[in-house]
Amino acid sequence: LSRESPGSWVRFHPDINSNWRRRNRLQADLRQAVARGELLLNYQPYVSLKSGKVAGAEALVRWQHPELGLISPADFIPLAEESGVIHALGEWVLQEGIRHAAQWRQQYLSNFVISINVSLLQLEDARFAEVVAAILATYHLPGEALELEVTEGLALRNTPAIDSNLQLLRALGIAIAIDDFGTGYASFSYLRRFPVEKLKIDKQFLDHVPENESSSNLVRMIVAMGHTLGASVTGEGIENIQQARFLARHGCDYAQGYLISRPLAPNALEQFLAAARPL
Ligand code: C2E
Ligand code: CA
Ligand code: CA
Ligand code: CA
Repeated sequence: LSRESPGSWVRFHPDINSNWRRRNRLQADLRQAVARGELLLNYQPYVSLKSGKVAGAEALVRWQHPELGLISPADFIPLAEESGVIHALGEWVLQEGIRHAAQWRQQYLSNFVISINVSLLQLEDARFAEVVAAILATYHLPGEALELEVTEGLALRNTPAIDSNLQLLRALGIAIAIDDFGTGYASFSYLRRFPVEKLKIDKQFLDHVPENESSSNLVRMIVAMGHTLGASVTGEGIENIQQARFLARHGCDYAQGYLISRPLAPNALEQFLAAARPL
């Protein structure tokens, strides 16, 4: 729809149309994806910058569509949120992630923590915390082994359910992490509202660390702020050793990113944990 060529929308129209059709199709297919077993989880480990040891892993959902192939969560999570499928999808992710975590704590790493992304819409569901508690009980996983990552993207509505969920989650020992910290417009209202145990510094702030001075200052400031709030801090999207050294030097607690590992299929994560296992 460019101003330079007024007629050009005609050319673009079919694309917009097929994008829209693809969206509708994905949205319809997504309703069945959970039941058909088309979702899978990859796990990206993260390490403590103090000890150098693996501390846990983040569960990242993928959709193996029978015709369209592997679809990224960036493409279907927003659709799931729009249609309400996020509730069933999110529950499946919790179930699967917690099941694996329980197994890995027994076999590989007794203090392994599983980090699971949850949509704010899930937190607004009055039964959310009870469902989480029930899944933990099923797999005999203590609350301390679970961390829920909430992205500060959506505006934080004033729903009473959020507060009661957060209260119960906290009582269970489950930590809340703010994901992509600093990218939303609501960072400070989240901090005021949430009992935050962790801040995850978004990749975009770390990409040009340490050579870019303003990025580096911002990162140091977020680490200090997290610690002032009694939260630990993770640097995300760490791809090189210079970034990791910068974070370690400035007291950041955890690092996650391709430098440590790409997101892995469950069996590959098991190999990773076996190799990293302290004897
Ligand atoms: P996120 O939570 O910020 O996850 C980190 C994303 O960065 C992942 O992409 C991961 O593969 C990628 N990443 C990690 N390390 C590096 C690195 O060193 N370099 C680069 N270039 N990328 C890195 P992914 O798996 O495509 O996930 C995208 C987003 O989808 C996630 O962002 C999260 O917001 C959302 N998501 C994923 N799984 C779930 C889920 O189960 N539920 C919900 N609600 N959202 C999810
Ligand atoms: Ca995340
Ligand atoms: Ca993130
Ligand atoms: Ca993100």
